[in-house]
Amino acid sequence: MKKIAVLTSGGDSPAMNAAIRAVVRVALEKGIKVLGVHRGYNGLINGEVFEMDRHSVSDIIQRGGTILRTARSEEFKTEEGRQKALNVIKVLRIDGVIVIGGDGSFRGADLLSDLGVPTIGIPGTIDNDLPYTDYTIGFDTALNTAIDAINKIRDTSSSHERVSVIEVMGRNCGDLALYAGIAGGAEQVIIPEQPSKIEDICESIFAGKRIGKLHNIIILAEGVGGAQKLAKDIERITSIETRATVLGYIQRGGSPSASDRILASRMGNRAVKALIEGKTARVVGIRNNKIIDMDIKEALAMKKEFNKDLYELSISLSN
Ligand code: ADP
Repeated sequence: MKKIAVLTSGGDSPAMNAAIRAVVRVALEKGIKVLGVHRGYNGLINGEVFEMDRHSVSDIIQRGGTILRTARSEEFKTEEGRQKALNVIKVLRIDGVIVIGGDGSFRGADLLSDLGVPTIGIPGTIDNDLPYTDYTIGFDTALNTAIDAINKIRDTSSSHERVSVIEVMGRNCGDLALYAGIAGGAEQVIIPEQPSKIEDICESIFAGKRIGKLHNIIILAEGVGGAQKLAKDIERITSIETRATVLGYIQRGGSPSASDRILASRMGNRAVKALIEGKTARVVGIRNNKIIDMDIKEALAMKKEFNKDLYELSISLSN
Protein backbone atom coordinates (compact mmCIF):
# COMPACT_ATOMS: atom_id res chain seq x y z
CA MET A 1 0.00 0.00 0.00
CA LYS A 2 1.85 3.08 -1.26
CA LYS A 3 -0.85 5.54 -2.15
CA ILE A 4 -4.49 5.85 -1.06
CA ALA A 5 -7.31 8.26 -1.90
CA VAL A 6 -9.95 9.65 0.44
CA LEU A 7 -13.30 11.20 -0.53
CA THR A 8 -16.51 12.38 1.11
CA SER A 9 -19.78 11.62 -0.66
CA GLY A 10 -23.54 12.18 -0.36
CA GLY A 11 -24.96 14.24 2.51
CA ASP A 12 -22.29 15.90 4.64
CA SER A 13 -22.07 15.50 8.39
CA PRO A 14 -20.11 17.13 11.19
CA ALA A 15 -16.77 15.41 11.94
CA MET A 16 -16.20 14.26 8.37
CA ASN A 17 -13.18 16.58 8.59
CA ALA A 18 -11.97 14.81 11.72
CA ALA A 19 -12.19 11.51 9.81
CA ILE A 20 -10.24 12.93 6.84
CA ARG A 21 -7.61 14.26 9.26
CA ALA A 22 -7.23 10.86 10.90
CA VAL A 23 -6.95 9.08 7.53
CA VAL A 24 -4.25 11.50 6.36
CA ARG A 25 -2.21 11.53 9.54
CA VAL A 26 -2.33 7.76 10.16
CA ALA A 27 -1.48 6.99 6.53
CA LEU A 28 1.43 9.44 6.45
CA GLU A 29 2.76 7.98 9.68
CA LYS A 30 2.82 4.59 7.93
CA GLY A 31 4.66 6.06 4.92
CA ILE A 32 1.58 5.99 2.66
CA LYS A 33 0.81 8.92 0.33
CA VAL A 34 -2.71 10.34 0.45
CA LEU A 35 -4.66 11.92 -2.38
CA GLY A 36 -7.66 14.03 -1.41
CA VAL A 37 -10.52 13.75 -3.92
CA HIS A 38 -12.83 16.73 -4.36
CA ARG A 39 -16.62 16.37 -4.75
CA GLY A 40 -17.10 12.69 -4.04
CA TYR A 41 -17.30 10.18 -6.88
CA ASN A 42 -17.51 13.03 -9.43
CA GLY A 43 -13.99 14.03 -8.42
CA LEU A 44 -12.79 10.47 -8.86
CA ILE A 45 -14.28 10.33 -12.37
CA ASN A 46 -12.78 13.70 -13.33
CA GLY A 47 -9.44 13.25 -11.59
CA GLU A 48 -10.01 16.17 -9.21
CA VAL A 49 -7.34 15.11 -6.76
CA PHE A 50 -4.49 16.70 -4.82
CA GLU A 51 -1.76 15.30 -2.67
CA MET A 52 -2.37 15.88 1.03
CA ASP A 53 0.34 16.47 3.63
CA ARG A 54 -0.11 16.80 7.35
CA HIS A 55 -0.73 20.56 7.00
CA SER A 56 -3.61 19.92 4.56
CA VAL A 57 -5.57 18.77 7.59
CA SER A 58 -4.31 21.33 10.11
CA ASP A 59 -6.97 23.31 11.90
CA ILE A 60 -9.94 21.31 10.59
CA ILE A 61 -10.85 19.02 13.51
CA GLN A 62 -13.21 21.68 14.88
CA ARG A 63 -14.84 22.53 11.54
CA GLY A 64 -18.19 21.21 10.32
CA GLY A 65 -18.83 20.24 6.70
CA THR A 66 -16.06 18.66 4.66
CA ILE A 67 -12.93 20.33 3.28
CA LEU A 68 -13.03 17.84 0.39
CA ARG A 69 -16.55 18.99 -0.43
CA THR A 70 -19.17 16.46 -1.36
CA ALA A 71 -21.49 15.71 -4.24
CA ARG A 72 -24.07 13.33 -5.55
CA SER A 73 -22.77 11.69 -8.71
CA GLU A 74 -25.31 10.27 -11.15
CA GLU A 75 -22.45 9.35 -13.48
CA PHE A 76 -20.90 7.02 -10.93
CA LYS A 77 -24.14 5.05 -10.87
CA THR A 78 -23.45 4.03 -14.48
CA GLU A 79 -21.00 1.32 -15.56
CA GLU A 80 -19.33 3.83 -17.88
CA GLY A 81 -18.84 6.36 -15.07
CA ARG A 82 -17.29 3.75 -12.80
CA GLN A 83 -14.94 2.64 -15.59
CA LYS A 84 -13.78 6.26 -15.94
CA ALA A 85 -13.11 6.35 -12.18
CA LEU A 86 -11.24 3.05 -12.43
CA ASN A 87 -9.09 4.48 -15.19
CA VAL A 88 -8.19 7.51 -13.04
CA ILE A 89 -7.37 5.17 -10.14
CA LYS A 90 -5.06 3.13 -12.40
CA VAL A 91 -3.36 6.14 -13.99
CA LEU A 92 -2.72 7.73 -10.60
CA ARG A 93 -1.60 4.37 -9.15
CA ILE A 94 -4.04 4.55 -6.26
CA ASP A 95 -3.84 1.34 -4.21
CA GLY A 96 -6.93 1.87 -2.08
CA VAL A 97 -9.88 4.23 -1.57
CA ILE A 98 -11.56 5.37 1.64
CA VAL A 99 -15.13 6.61 1.19
CA ILE A 100 -16.75 8.65 3.95
CA GLY A 101 -20.52 8.82 3.49
CA GLY A 102 -23.89 7.19 4.02
CA ASP A 103 -25.57 4.08 2.63
CA GLY A 104 -25.71 5.40 -0.96
CA SER A 105 -21.99 6.14 -0.88
CA PHE A 106 -21.41 2.63 0.49
CA ARG A 107 -23.29 1.12 -2.48
CA GLY A 108 -20.88 3.00 -4.72
CA ALA A 109 -17.92 1.79 -2.62
CA ASP A 110 -19.15 -1.78 -2.94
CA LEU A 111 -19.24 -1.51 -6.73
CA LEU A 112 -15.79 0.06 -6.77
CA SER A 113 -14.39 -2.85 -4.77
CA ASP A 114 -16.08 -5.24 -7.24
CA LEU A 115 -13.85 -3.63 -9.89
CA GLY A 116 -10.82 -4.77 -7.91
CA VAL A 117 -10.07 -1.52 -6.06
CA PRO A 118 -9.53 -2.08 -2.31
CA THR A 119 -12.23 0.12 -0.79
CA ILE A 120 -13.19 0.86 2.83
CA GLY A 121 -16.23 2.87 3.99
CA ILE A 122 -16.53 5.15 7.01
CA PRO A 123 -20.12 5.99 8.08
CA GLY A 124 -20.61 9.75 7.86
CA THR A 125 -24.26 10.73 8.31
CA ILE A 126 -26.27 12.51 10.99
CA ASP A 127 -29.14 10.04 10.48
CA ASN A 128 -27.63 7.06 12.36
CA ASP A 129 -29.49 4.91 9.83
CA LEU A 130 -26.77 2.33 9.17
CA PRO A 131 -27.81 -0.87 10.96
CA TYR A 132 -24.36 -2.45 11.35
CA THR A 133 -22.95 0.32 13.57
CA ASP A 134 -24.22 1.68 16.88
CA TYR A 135 -23.30 5.22 15.83
CA THR A 136 -22.41 7.14 12.68
CA ILE A 137 -20.15 10.18 12.52
CA GLY A 138 -22.16 13.38 12.97
CA PHE A 139 -25.12 11.90 14.81
CA ASP A 140 -23.98 13.12 18.23
CA THR A 141 -23.35 16.66 16.98
CA ALA A 142 -26.74 16.82 15.24
CA LEU A 143 -28.35 15.53 18.44
CA ASN A 144 -26.68 18.27 20.47
CA THR A 145 -27.82 20.89 17.96
CA ALA A 146 -31.38 19.57 18.23
CA ILE A 147 -31.19 19.65 22.04
CA ASP A 148 -29.99 23.24 22.00
CA ALA A 149 -32.97 24.19 19.82
CA ILE A 150 -35.42 22.19 21.94
CA ASN A 151 -34.20 23.95 25.10
CA LYS A 152 -34.90 27.32 23.50
CA ILE A 153 -38.31 26.37 22.17
CA ARG A 154 -39.20 24.91 25.57
CA ASP A 155 -38.70 28.34 27.21
CA THR A 156 -41.15 30.09 24.94
CA SER A 157 -43.46 27.09 24.92
CA SER A 158 -43.73 27.28 28.74
CA SER A 159 -44.26 31.04 28.77
CA HIS A 160 -47.17 30.74 26.36
CA GLU A 161 -48.40 27.36 27.68
CA ARG A 162 -48.25 26.03 24.16
CA VAL A 163 -47.80 22.70 22.48
CA SER A 164 -44.64 22.62 20.35
CA VAL A 165 -44.10 20.15 17.55
CA ILE A 166 -40.39 20.01 16.67
CA GLU A 167 -39.40 18.08 13.57
CA VAL A 168 -35.86 16.71 13.51
CA MET A 169 -33.95 15.05 10.67
CA GLY A 170 -33.05 11.36 10.37
CA ARG A 171 -34.69 10.30 7.10
CA ASN A 172 -36.52 7.03 7.76
CA CYS A 173 -34.65 6.37 10.98
CA GLY A 174 -36.19 7.58 14.26
CA ASP A 175 -32.94 7.58 16.27
CA LEU A 176 -32.33 11.34 16.14
CA ALA A 177 -35.93 12.00 17.29
CA LEU A 178 -35.81 9.32 19.98
CA TYR A 179 -32.49 10.40 21.45
CA ALA A 180 -33.51 14.08 21.21
CA GLY A 181 -36.79 13.25 22.92
CA ILE A 182 -35.06 11.60 25.86
CA ALA A 183 -32.22 14.12 26.18
CA GLY A 184 -34.56 17.07 25.61
CA GLY A 185 -37.18 15.90 28.13
CA ALA A 186 -39.93 15.80 25.52
CA GLU A 187 -43.45 14.73 26.34
CA GLN A 188 -43.85 12.65 23.20
CA VAL A 189 -41.70 11.19 20.44
CA ILE A 190 -43.22 10.31 17.09
CA ILE A 191 -41.04 8.06 14.94
CA PRO A 192 -41.55 5.93 11.82
CA GLU A 193 -40.78 2.71 13.72
CA GLN A 194 -43.73 3.21 16.10
CA PRO A 195 -46.76 4.82 14.44
CA SER A 196 -48.84 7.12 16.68
CA LYS A 197 -52.54 7.98 16.34
CA ILE A 198 -53.61 11.62 16.52
CA GLU A 199 -56.22 10.71 19.20
CA ASP A 200 -53.48 9.24 21.43
CA ILE A 201 -51.22 12.24 20.85
CA CYS A 202 -54.02 14.60 21.91
CA GLU A 203 -55.00 12.44 24.88
CA SER A 204 -51.43 12.60 26.11
CA ILE A 205 -51.49 16.41 25.79
CA PHE A 206 -54.67 16.55 27.90
CA ALA A 207 -53.04 14.22 30.47
CA GLY A 208 -50.10 16.63 30.65
CA LYS A 209 -52.43 19.59 31.24
CA ARG A 210 -54.24 17.65 34.00
CA ILE A 211 -50.99 17.21 35.95
CA GLY A 212 -50.11 20.88 35.49
CA LYS A 213 -47.57 20.79 32.66
CA LEU A 214 -47.00 24.26 31.23
CA HIS A 215 -45.71 23.09 27.89
CA ASN A 216 -45.89 20.02 25.76
CA ILE A 217 -42.93 19.21 23.55
CA ILE A 218 -43.49 16.70 20.78
CA ILE A 219 -40.45 15.53 18.81
CA LEU A 220 -41.41 14.41 15.34
CA ALA A 221 -39.06 12.40 13.12
CA GLU A 222 -38.50 13.53 9.53
CA GLY A 223 -39.53 10.03 8.40
CA VAL A 224 -43.05 10.71 9.71
CA GLY A 225 -42.97 14.37 8.68
CA GLY A 226 -45.82 16.83 8.28
CA ALA A 227 -45.07 19.00 11.32
CA GLN A 228 -47.30 21.88 10.19
CA LYS A 229 -50.27 19.62 9.55
CA LEU A 230 -49.81 17.79 12.84
CA ALA A 231 -49.71 21.12 14.71
CA LYS A 232 -52.93 22.24 12.98
CA ASP A 233 -54.67 18.94 13.78
CA ILE A 234 -53.60 19.10 17.43
CA GLU A 235 -54.83 22.70 17.74
CA ARG A 236 -58.16 21.82 16.10
CA ILE A 237 -58.77 18.84 18.37
CA THR A 238 -57.42 20.21 21.69
CA SER A 239 -58.03 23.97 21.21
CA ILE A 240 -54.55 24.49 22.69
CA GLU A 241 -52.26 26.82 20.80
CA THR A 242 -49.75 24.69 18.89
CA ARG A 243 -46.64 25.70 16.94
CA ALA A 244 -44.51 23.69 14.58
CA THR A 245 -40.75 24.12 14.07
CA VAL A 246 -38.82 22.19 11.45
CA LEU A 247 -35.16 22.31 12.51
CA GLY A 248 -33.85 21.39 9.06
CA TYR A 249 -30.30 21.95 7.91
CA ILE A 250 -28.96 23.58 11.07
CA GLN A 251 -28.64 19.96 12.24
CA ARG A 252 -26.18 19.17 9.46
CA GLY A 253 -23.67 21.89 10.30
CA GLY A 254 -21.62 23.21 13.16
CA SER A 255 -18.50 22.34 15.05
CA PRO A 256 -18.47 18.60 15.81
CA SER A 257 -18.93 17.39 19.39
CA ALA A 258 -15.98 15.88 21.25
CA SER A 259 -17.64 12.48 20.97
CA ASP A 260 -17.96 12.73 17.17
CA ARG A 261 -14.36 13.93 16.80
CA ILE A 262 -13.10 10.95 18.75
CA LEU A 263 -15.34 8.51 16.88
CA ALA A 264 -14.22 9.94 13.53
CA SER A 265 -10.56 9.73 14.57
CA ARG A 266 -10.92 6.11 15.67
CA MET A 267 -12.76 5.15 12.49
CA GLY A 268 -10.29 6.96 10.21
CA ASN A 269 -7.47 5.09 11.91
CA ARG A 270 -9.23 1.74 11.47
CA ALA A 271 -9.97 2.38 7.78
CA VAL A 272 -6.28 2.96 6.99
CA LYS A 273 -5.23 -0.08 9.03
CA ALA A 274 -7.81 -2.21 7.17
CA LEU A 275 -6.29 -1.19 3.82
CA ILE A 276 -2.78 -1.93 5.11
CA GLU A 277 -3.98 -5.39 6.21
CA GLY A 278 -5.12 -6.01 2.64
CA LYS A 279 -8.82 -5.81 3.40
CA THR A 280 -11.35 -4.64 0.82
CA ALA A 281 -15.11 -4.15 0.60
CA ARG A 282 -15.32 -3.44 4.34
CA VAL A 283 -17.10 -0.78 6.34
CA VAL A 284 -15.89 0.54 9.67
CA GLY A 285 -18.28 0.84 12.59
CA ILE A 286 -18.56 0.88 16.36
CA ARG A 287 -20.29 -1.76 18.46
CA ASN A 288 -20.29 -1.80 22.26
CA ASN A 289 -17.63 0.93 22.10
CA LYS A 290 -15.29 -1.27 20.06
CA ILE A 291 -14.26 -0.24 16.55
CA ILE A 292 -15.09 -3.00 14.09
CA ASP A 293 -15.00 -3.54 10.35
CA MET A 294 -17.28 -5.84 8.42
CA ASP A 295 -18.20 -6.92 4.92
CA ILE A 296 -19.89 -4.07 3.07
CA LYS A 297 -22.51 -6.26 1.36
CA GLU A 298 -23.49 -7.86 4.66
CA ALA A 299 -23.64 -4.44 6.31
CA LEU A 300 -25.89 -3.05 3.56
CA ALA A 301 -28.20 -6.07 3.79
CA MET A 302 -28.78 -5.64 7.52
CA LYS A 303 -32.05 -4.28 8.88
CA LYS A 304 -31.92 -1.64 11.57
CA GLU A 305 -33.23 -2.99 14.86
CA PHE A 306 -35.73 -0.74 16.56
CA ASN A 307 -34.59 0.15 20.08
CA LYS A 308 -37.86 -0.61 21.86
CA ASP A 309 -36.32 -0.25 25.33
CA LEU A 310 -35.25 3.30 24.57
CA TYR A 311 -38.69 4.11 23.15
CA GLU A 312 -40.39 2.75 26.27
CA LEU A 313 -37.98 4.72 28.42
CA SER A 314 -38.98 7.89 26.58
CA ILE A 315 -42.60 7.14 27.51
CA SER A 316 -41.79 6.34 31.16
CA LEU A 317 -39.85 9.56 31.56
CA SER A 318 -42.58 11.75 30.11
CA ASN A 319 -45.39 10.46 32.32
P1 ADP B 1 -25.51 9.07 1.12
O1 ADP B 1 -24.17 8.46 0.90
O2 ADP B 1 -25.46 10.22 2.05
O3 ADP B 1 -26.55 8.04 1.45
P2 ADP B 1 -26.55 9.24 -1.63
O4 ADP B 1 -27.56 8.16 -1.44
O5 ADP B 1 -26.98 10.46 -2.35
O6 ADP B 1 -25.95 9.77 -0.25
O7 ADP B 1 -25.29 8.61 -2.37
C1 ADP B 1 -24.14 9.37 -2.64
C2 ADP B 1 -23.54 8.99 -3.95
O8 ADP B 1 -23.13 7.61 -3.91
C3 ADP B 1 -24.46 9.05 -5.15
O9 ADP B 1 -24.60 10.34 -5.68
C4 ADP B 1 -23.73 8.15 -6.13
O10 ADP B 1 -22.64 8.79 -6.70
C5 ADP B 1 -23.24 7.05 -5.19
N1 ADP B 1 -24.22 5.95 -5.21
C6 ADP B 1 -25.37 5.84 -4.51
N2 ADP B 1 -26.03 4.72 -4.84
C7 ADP B 1 -25.29 4.09 -5.76
C8 ADP B 1 -25.43 2.89 -6.52
N3 ADP B 1 -26.48 2.08 -6.35
N4 ADP B 1 -24.46 2.58 -7.41
C9 ADP B 1 -23.39 3.38 -7.57
N5 ADP B 1 -23.20 4.53 -6.91
C10 ADP B 1 -24.13 4.88 -6.02
